[in-house]
Amino acid sequence: MQFVKGIGPRKSEILEKYGIRTVHDLLLHVPRRYLDRTSIVSIAELRALSPRWGDGEEPGRQGDVRREHTVLGEVRSFRTLGGGAKARFVLVLADATGSLQCVWFGGVHYWKTMFSVGETLAVSGQPSYFGSVLQFIHPDLDRIAPASGSADNDGASEQWMQKLHTGGLVPLYPSGQDLARVGLDSAGFRRVISSTLHTFGDSAPELLPASIITSHSFVPYKDALKSVHFPQNRGELEDGLRRLKYEEFFLFQLKLALKRRQAKAETGGISFSIKSPLARRLAESLPFSLTGAQKRVIKEISADMQSARPMNRLVQGDVGSGKTIVALLSMLVAVENGYQAAFMAPTELLAEQHFGTLARLLKDLPLNIRLLVGAQKSSVRRDVLEDVRSGGAQIVVGTHALFEKDVLFAKLGFVVIDEQHRFGVMQRAELRSKGTNPDVMVMTATPIPRTLSLTLYGDLDVSVIDEMPKNRKPIKTVLQSDAGTDDVVEFVRAEVGRGRQAYFVYPLIEESEKLDLKAATVHFRHLQDKVFPDLRLGLLHGRLARDEREEIMRRFKEREIDILVATTVIEVGIDVPNASVMVIENAERFGLAQLHQLRGRVGRGNEQSFCILLAKAWIARNAVRAAKKGPEQLSMDQQRVAEERLATMVRTTDGFEIAEVDLRLRGPGDFFGTRQSGLPEFRVADVVADADLLQEARGDAFALVEEDPRLQNHQHEQLARHLRSREAEEMMLMDVG
Ligand code: ADP
Ligand code: MG
Repeated sequence: MQFVKGIGPRKSEILEKYGIRTVHDLLLHVPRRYLDRTSIVSIAELRALSPRWGDGEEPGRQGDVRREHTVLGEVRSFRTLGGGAKARFVLVLADATGSLQCVWFGGVHYWKTMFSVGETLAVSGQPSYFGSVLQFIHPDLDRIAPASGSADNDGASEQWMQKLHTGGLVPLYPSGQDLARVGLDSAGFRRVISSTLHTFGDSAPELLPASIITSHSFVPYKDALKSVHFPQNRGELEDGLRRLKYEEFFLFQLKLALKRRQAKAETGGISFSIKSPLARRLAESLPFSLTGAQKRVIKEISADMQSARPMNRLVQGDVGSGKTIVALLSMLVAVENGYQAAFMAPTELLAEQHFGTLARLLKDLPLNIRLLVGAQKSSVRRDVLEDVRSGGAQIVVGTHALFEKDVLFAKLGFVVIDEQHRFGVMQRAELRSKGTNPDVMVMTATPIPRTLSLTLYGDLDVSVIDEMPKNRKPIKTVLQSDAGTDDVVEFVRAEVGRGRQAYFVYPLIEESEKLDLKAATVHFRHLQDKVFPDLRLGLLHGRLARDEREEIMRRFKEREIDILVATTVIEVGIDVPNASVMVIENAERFGLAQLHQLRGRVGRGNEQSFCILLAKAWIARNAVRAAKKGPEQLSMDQQRVAEERLATMVRTTDGFEIAEVDLRLRGPGDFFGTRQSGLPEFRVADVVADADLLQEARGDAFALVEEDPRLQNHQHEQLARHLRSREAEEMMLMDVG
């Protein structure tokens, strides 16, 4: 068993938290950026670049002040100021041209132990002023060299100083407090990785076949590793990065390609006959004709259903594109073949609503459709379960309650899963196991940028409903300061006067659901008593009992309520075509995908619909400006991100465009919220920034599997070995025994 010099049990335990378990993982811990002479400013230059804010200026609008700058200097002194909750740690850094302060609020006991006078730091941050004192608040820092003559000056750091002075590049590594505490700050990583590369770098296997290396003019893998960590120049760095990123994408896509090939070869699914008089009757009874996109997607699904290969298809379509009817027509085919179909929604509210919609559409057809949700009375539940078990229920609509053990289907043949990103992958497998290998159709209203669907759904077939029903009027979206809302109130009143209905959406802000609910309730009372005393308002939130919720929705649908005040429970799927105004309060607090989903609740009828976004005055002002300018390319702070989200909403109603912006603003890891995204994490590559490379790697990987599905060609030997035994083969950082 191999050991890496300088990594003991303490370090390896913390590294493991960051997913670094093997030598190879460590070598893929790549620098977050590189320092060179041109990226450093002197303190005097920094002072000149950073004009002081005048009194009364709104924060955050001062051009250059918001940019990150890096200063290289020596630690002159440091001390702790204040006490208790107000304690702060202040460090004075100086170079030949002047000095500045680095300030940390909190964590003083930690910082106290981290520095010594005389050592050289590279410090990066956005400068600000406290009085006339130039400061970095909570800067990033990197230890470049210890004080001369200090005990841990091993000569290596001198080498880095030398590098900087001669125009070389110094790698700065991502780290964190817990890592720094065990010596793995950026400088620590530089040391450990340098020695690891020295010892193991040459044994890193060359996985890519020679043909790919040649056609892309890649440098050898081991050279790429060296140049990414310790590049001689920018060109070398770029070549190295390109190789590492490509390799990450390629290996991932290779696995997808193999999985997909396997799925294609699978049989044992149901081969449906796609003649369906019922579906025909339904299609003919609709008050509209299907869009071209709907017809195309139905064809794609039909082909899957006919084939004996189990269907595994994602249907993507923006809000209002008409996914429900596509699902229903497909379910009817299954039913007519003597199978049951299940329709699964992410929440009870939505399951109930889908049930209502489907039942209404099916009312003239001889079909038995049932609802199964957790909150049903046990007598009702028993009855539904029996109906499902006997096969009497042909279509069953429900939530995850459909997965429960006591739910037995007589003959499940088709499954529709709505809003897939809310479900884990495991549940899908579970549902599959409930039938005789049923066909599965997953629907999502979250338009997924192509770059992402390639990585996420590489092993699913994807259909896109990319056309809206005709005679829909695009929703008009405006952004308003929440300071003066009188005209908004008048506007809503006028629309209601014309027989329309409106939503007021209120975000959940507090961490405690209880407090939140209180805020929403208070707000509702205010609107009802003070603002719209003459109108009928309803309040909808997730904590209401099912029958109360249902009752409010029913009253809103039947126009007994003019204005529905709601928390985000109305986000997905609620369908009231007569509602034509959506007012979103504190809009800056919502995510972009969420705003788009919310807006999709209006514009569902033939009337012109409106979306009014209310935001803090300065955010609204800047966002309106940004909307005129076009998409922003720079990296952004939080406020700018909020502005850009709102600007995007004003600029477009195109879900795919919105999704692209969202992905860029949030970063892929966060795109679907949390972990359940199932999104692969890449260490070096970035699915957004490196989308082109991803495409290339995907093309190459799929072509390779096409040509050599079992990876038997001797050129693919290393790849095959890598895939077979990745875990076992890799050198661990530490001998766990
Ligand atoms: P989503 O894709 O958001 O689930 P729905 O399936 O709920 O969209 O459809 C939105 C509305 O559009 C529904 O009221 C539906 O009846 C209607 N609709 C669906 N397809 C068409 C079409 N081809 N032409 C006109 N209206 C349609
Ligand atoms: Mg829907």
